[in-house]
Amino acid sequence: MMLFSTITITIGAILSAGQYEGTSIVRAHIENQKQLNTLRELGARSLDCFDHKGSTPMLFDDSHIEFAEKMKIDFEVLETNIDSYILKYEQSREEARMRGLGGWYSDFKTWNEVNTRLNQVEQAYPNIASVFTVGVTHEGRNINGIRITAPGDSVGRKQVLWNGCQHAREWVAVMVPMYIIDALVEGWNVDSEITTILETTEIIIVPIVNPDGYEFTYAPNGDRFWRKNRRNNSGSCEGVDLNRNWGFAWNGGDSTSTNTCSDVYVGPSAFSEPEAQAMRDLVVSLPNLVAHIDFHSYSQLVLEPWASSNNTPPRVDIVKALSNDISDAILSVHGETYAAGTGGDLLYLADGVFPDWVTDRGALSYTIELRPTGSPGFDLPPNEILPTCEENLAGAMAMLRFIQNSVSFSFPNGVPGFGLAGEMQTLPINIEPVFEEVLLENTATLHVRYGSNGPFATRSIQHDSGTQYTAQIPISTCGVNSEYWISIESTDGETHRYPLGEEVLQVGVATEIQNWNMDTNPNWQTSGLWSWGTPTGGGGQYGNPDPTTGATGQYVFGYNLQGDYENNLAEKHLVTPTINVSNQQNIQLQFDRYLNVEQPSYDHASISVRGDGGAWSTLWTNTSVIEDSQWVSVSYDLSQTIGTANTVEIRWTMGTTDSAWRYSGWNIDDVQLLALSNTAIQGDVNCDGVVDVSDLLNIISNWGFCEGICGADTVPDGSINVSDLLQVIGNW
Ligand SMILES: [Zn+2]
Repeated sequence: MMLFSTITITIGAILSAGQYEGTSIVRAHIENQKQLNTLRELGARSLDCFDHKGSTPMLFDDSHIEFAEKMKIDFEVLETNIDSYILKYEQSREEARMRGLGGWYSDFKTWNEVNTRLNQVEQAYPNIASVFTVGVTHEGRNINGIRITAPGDSVGRKQVLWNGCQHAREWVAVMVPMYIIDALVEGWNVDSEITTILETTEIIIVPIVNPDGYEFTYAPNGDRFWRKNRRNNSGSCEGVDLNRNWGFAWNGGDSTSTNTCSDVYVGPSAFSEPEAQAMRDLVVSLPNLVAHIDFHSYSQLVLEPWASSNNTPPRVDIVKALSNDISDAILSVHGETYAAGTGGDLLYLADGVFPDWVTDRGALSYTIELRPTGSPGFDLPPNEILPTCEENLAGAMAMLRFIQNSVSFSFPNGVPGFGLAGEMQTLPINIEPVFEEVLLENTATLHVRYGSNGPFATRSIQHDSGTQYTAQIPISTCGVNSEYWISIESTDGETHRYPLGEEVLQVGVATEIQNWNMDTNPNWQTSGLWSWGTPTGGGGQYGNPDPTTGATGQYVFGYNLQGDYENNLAEKHLVTPTINVSNQQNIQLQFDRYLNVEQPSYDHASISVRGDGGAWSTLWTNTSVIEDSQWVSVSYDLSQTIGTANTVEIRWTMGTTDSAWRYSGWNIDDVQLLALSNTAIQGDVNCDGVVDVSDLLNIISNWGFCEGICGADTVPDGSINVSDLLQVIGNW
């Protein structure tokens, strides 16, 4: 961010003393919809982007406290002096501005400052950036947007829309779109990927959808915790929740209110609000809109459609593939988890929201809830603005990358990290056009080689049905890593590749330390309802029932083979015996999982491990609801956790669980403990560690067709021929 070097000094909003006199921040434990509705109607405001039942921060004045006590709503007071809390926050902002770390991103910016910067961008990059007015608010402010695309005819380019700040108090949701704007204009003709993307894509960014509300959160006589716009409702309460005003599933469900004093007031009619109308008309004016993000705070989530129901959205595989790409890209920058899933999975349903309306029009549309995960909510410390922007730029780039590729490749079981030497690794793939392409299903091809030099062999990928394919990835007999990529052709003559560009995927080679296929009872140590046997397909009060068979064979280890786990469960363990792993390196646990468990605010499933009889370390725990409806192969790297230990024990845990909502819990099968090795040499046919004349002779004596995997098939195309000879000679 070198462009804007001028440091703007702003005077922080001076709050009138005593503005929040008599108001406290509390954590309320709301047991039912009636309590929530009544609190809403009394004007008690949730301090979440999604207000909801359960445990939630809220603003309570004396009358709310009195009501809560009368209604026996449990709450604890977190902050009684909000004025001094806000003053402290203002001081931290002042200090952050003085330090100036992060330049423009050292502190949050007002509506005016954002507009000034948009104009500066346009002046600095007139060829690729133009500012425009999306619409005008109740109070006469312009909603400003910026279009960024390469010069030339932009008709026919794909269009992407990103906006922030439907909700006034979610300040960081303004900074992130601004940062993305900077990165795109500064990357033009500097970063080859951004340049290519801008030549095929028009990006429209609206940092502040709700300028009236946003300004009100900064105003001396305003309200830092204002959420809605500033409609005059001709009564005691102002404002409409813009993200409940959209014309898809408008005014329904538990997430909305028709009371003007509620923070989720839906407005007098769908699209009654000029801000929602302006954004609607903008979307309608974008014939090639393919993807959209509505930025909010807070909770760190990538929310997929639908928000308003638990129905499956159109193109669900593509929806999930992109949200996972975004979540992974965000994680890769600063290690922050933004879980991907639907509102129903991760939060609560919400009606009349922007992304549902966009989804209904056919684009891929998401809500991203930015930092933090919880406290301090909307008042993100200023030093977290820049990292939040950086990680979400990565998420935005993942979206741009995804739509450049007009075919989506996704892997329902993930991609394998490793396989056994000399065995085929089965890889289920979903291949689906994102746009209008028609795929030639019998052209799906695996390009694979052993090692990282030389030609790729091609092997056809089996088309199962619909969007489902299965690749068989060969792992070399001597143990060289396999590299591969996947391609498919479409009727327009194009070849689509995964991964993009020159990138390849890699599978390591493993040897087996121990293997339990569960066909016989390994007699592991159990507690609670853990047992070995045949699962019965029982349970499923929520999520899916247990399976009716193992992943292979009929037997599994499961938690309650007859049905769901119990409520109010303490941790119940399944523990392996002590396994000798001396002289083994890079140890990996792999097994087949069929797990259903509620989200971790309530119920828990985990795996832990310990070396040499020491303390247990958690290897994995559920970070969201899990609803397996088929066996899934999963693997975990133990090497960091157990170091150089000589023995290891592994433990699966069911629990703790809360007092409601039972799921069918753990089922595990085909547990393997593996060690990774990659000491073999490319071109070494007979695995003796040297590439020499014996390897050549081996090839000649095996000349011809190779069924499955053959040592002499060094270019693994299923035939032992001259390409294998050349590979050996090339690695001599
Ligand atoms: Zn929000």
